[in-house]
Amino acid sequence: MSNFFNTKIALLRGMDTRRADVLAKELNLFTYGDLVQHYPFRYLDRTQFYNVCDLHDDLPMVQVKATVRTKELLGEGRKQRLVAKAQDASGEVELVWFKGVKWFEKWLKNHQEYIVFGKPTLFNGKPQIAHPELEEVSEVKPGASFLQPVYSSTDKLRNFNLDTKGIGKLMAQLLKLAAPHFHETLSGELIQRYALMPKAEAMQQIHFPQSADLLQAARFRLKFEELFYIQLKLLRQKTERKVELAGQIFDKVPTLTHFYKNVLPFDLTMAQKRVIHDIYKDFTAGKQMNRLLQGDVGSGKTIVAFISMLIAADNGAQSCMMAPTEILADQHYEGLKKFADMLGIKIGKLTGSTRTSERRVLHEQLRSGELHMLVGTHALLEDVVQFRNLGLTIMDEQHRFGVAQRSKLWQKNPHVIPHVLVMTATPIPRTLAMTLYGDLDVSVIDELPAGRKPIVTVHRFDSNRLKVFEFMRQQIRLGRQCYVVYPLIEESETMAEYKDLTDGYESITRAFPEYKVSIVHGRMSAADKDYEMQRFLRNETQIMVATTVIEVGVNVPNASVMVIESAERFGLSQLHQLRGRVGRGADQSYCILMSGYKLSKDSRTRLETMVRTNNGFEIADIDLKLRGPGDLMGTQQSGVLDLLVADLAKDGKILTESRAAAQELLNDDPNLAKAENQNIRRHIESLPATAVNWSRIS
Ligand code: ADP
Ligand code: MG
Repeated sequence: MSNFFNTKIALLRGMDTRRADVLAKELNLFTYGDLVQHYPFRYLDRTQFYNVCDLHDDLPMVQVKATVRTKELLGEGRKQRLVAKAQDASGEVELVWFKGVKWFEKWLKNHQEYIVFGKPTLFNGKPQIAHPELEEVSEVKPGASFLQPVYSSTDKLRNFNLDTKGIGKLMAQLLKLAAPHFHETLSGELIQRYALMPKAEAMQQIHFPQSADLLQAARFRLKFEELFYIQLKLLRQKTERKVELAGQIFDKVPTLTHFYKNVLPFDLTMAQKRVIHDIYKDFTAGKQMNRLLQGDVGSGKTIVAFISMLIAADNGAQSCMMAPTEILADQHYEGLKKFADMLGIKIGKLTGSTRTSERRVLHEQLRSGELHMLVGTHALLEDVVQFRNLGLTIMDEQHRFGVAQRSKLWQKNPHVIPHVLVMTATPIPRTLAMTLYGDLDVSVIDELPAGRKPIVTVHRFDSNRLKVFEFMRQQIRLGRQCYVVYPLIEESETMAEYKDLTDGYESITRAFPEYKVSIVHGRMSAADKDYEMQRFLRNETQIMVATTVIEVGVNVPNASVMVIESAERFGLSQLHQLRGRVGRGADQSYCILMSGYKLSKDSRTRLETMVRTNNGFEIADIDLKLRGPGDLMGTQQSGVLDLLVADLAKDGKILTESRAAAQELLNDDPNLAKAENQNIRRHIESLPATAVNWSRIS
């Protein structure tokens, strides 16, 4: 676009390099383009005033109109504070300053009416506002914008007079200069169809709205644009890949047929069959597959992965499957090896703890093509791991892997890029999936294997622990096994948390002297973890005390009870993942969420949600609403979620519409050659190649 938006902020009137530097450091704003897209995070409704007598603790920031009656310096030295009493017709409010006391004392005028803005609290039953923002009533010009923008700022910036007001002043100046430089970025057709406000007007209105309706129209326009460009980019990548990247054709299935007829011990669910059909269609299309397989915990993704690998083997190609943890890789390997052995397929395992001598053999067999399938962890990515003909790569529980790792696997076949299947057991809300994986094709397993009983989930307070122990004992007597999980994060575990776990382990060994207890946590060596897991799997131990290392994928069908300690400290998706460790056999399974009595509103919602539903997709939606997309597992590294106006938790409808619009545009005019689409084309061409968010002005 024009160079105007690349102008350094320091060139604005009243700015200098020092202030510009702080702005850059604190808020990452360098250019006019950055600044003009520093949108207000809320607006102050200058038409709404509270009565002083209605102020209470639970109100957010509010505005009152009150006249200062007295001001007084109280206390000495560092404890000194300024207390002013201000009145409106309904009562009195105390205004208090702890900092800049002397300055405010001088500045504040008795008998002056102010607009007072701040967070009210009750102090000894009387309303009080600490460090309010004040404005003399006479200063507020009639007819000024009723919705006043509030910009995020920082303490450092405030010292440089760049609080929300200071930024507002800069913005007003910049918008005047910028007005002729905003180009329309959407086609007339889209603007008309979705009744969008023109770009230039939206940029003015979002900062200084003339009414609530205009603000809403401006926000809608900018959200639509933001999501539209994200989707356009993803869909274009997908189309380009489809056009450009050839894939190996896997159409022969002799071993698979034999497997279905003679080896597979159960019937596939309809959903599994449908997904395998999707994959087979990709395999025979001559194009590289990029498919995301979403399926709730226990829905049977592993067997789908194995069948895909089998098809690759039937066509002379090798495949690898990457898991995020060693335990999980072990389990996949053990599970798949049984089948592979019966079929005469050679499968290997490569993890961080594979011995050098074994590695050498594996590397050799991979290069010669003798090994058909490889299961492992990140160790698979190492450059020394080379295949004769890698045709398929599968990533399990993908949210732990980044895009860089995806591409690393691609490079393992220099001739034809391997097909890619990404599997995730953390159901992702549709909106998020469309944004994170919008360039992938998606298959969903939305059905559990027949005969599974829904897991019964209950919430119990810590004071009922003895009863919970009693229940565990009953279950163990019936031949079942139990997990007890503590909130402890693998890498960042602190000593205090570690102590929770070991204390828990001791109290359980004391409470269950007649049974054997395993323990697994992140500080153990892989070999020790594995040893304990294996004992539990063979039912040599009846209780597994563990941290979240068992969260992902581990499968012990005989385990029927999952007790989660301090459940209020886990995220919702994580609780759901943990619960998925039971309910894998034919027995009725239980999940018991333990917590103290003191619960925040969000923790309560999380626990109630878990008790109410087993549906992973529903849980994912609620998780997104509670936490916002940035905090959801593994989404942090994705710049795509760094949105300026749109909110994936709330703007699902706009997202769906904008994606449909983007798809329609690409179908109709894939090269953006038509005259009416030149706005869009020009905008895309103005972007640096590395731009993640295509809606940004840069
Ligand atoms: P996830 O989707 O969570 O990875 P798994 O692939 O580990 O689930 O499958 C869970 C369990 O269900 C495994 O023991 C697997 O053998 C079994 N399973 C998978 N598909 C079926 C099916 N169609 N019928 C019965 N059991 C199945
Ligand atoms: Mg799995």
